[in-house]
Amino acid sequence: MSILDKASDSSAVLLKKGVDDEAALQRSCPCGSGKCYSECCAPLHAGVAVAQTAEQLMRSRYSAYVFKLADYLAQTWAEKTRPVEISFEENLSWQKLTILQAHKGRAKDKKGSVTFCAEFQQGLERFRMTEKSRFERDKQGCWVYVDGEFY
Ligand SMILES: [Zn+2]
Repeated sequence: MSILDKASDSSAVLLKKGVDDEAALQRSCPCGSGKCYSECCAPLHAGVAVAQTAEQLMRSRYSAYVFKLADYLAQTWAEKTRPVEISFEENLSWQKLTILQAHKGRAKDKKGSVTFCAEFQQGLERFRMTEKSRFERDKQGCWVYVDGEFY
């Protein structure tokens, strides 16, 4: 069963466990993949699919920041570097994600890194950050975020 099949018959699950906004499921995914959210990051957020690559996990974590899904961010954060509490800045809104480079992190890899640029707005100002994130597989074999280097 592909992620697509799972997504289409599990809108209820997606709504229950992920974003509680039905309209968001039909809109384009915030990660910028060009797909709609229900066919992209939503199945990952709802726990009905797992990221196959580090880049896919990276995208889904960006979308999780957009939707303020603290549980998903915690789940996909390596135990050794995971913060005790994940908080979101009140007046910050994520605007755009651009993947610049992915190194390894494919289905057959155990580690990988993804360099990306994220644009966000805070108050009236727009900012841009570039980070190289490192990922590895946890004990269950799922991709998790380890840490990042800023540029
Ligand atoms: Zn997505």
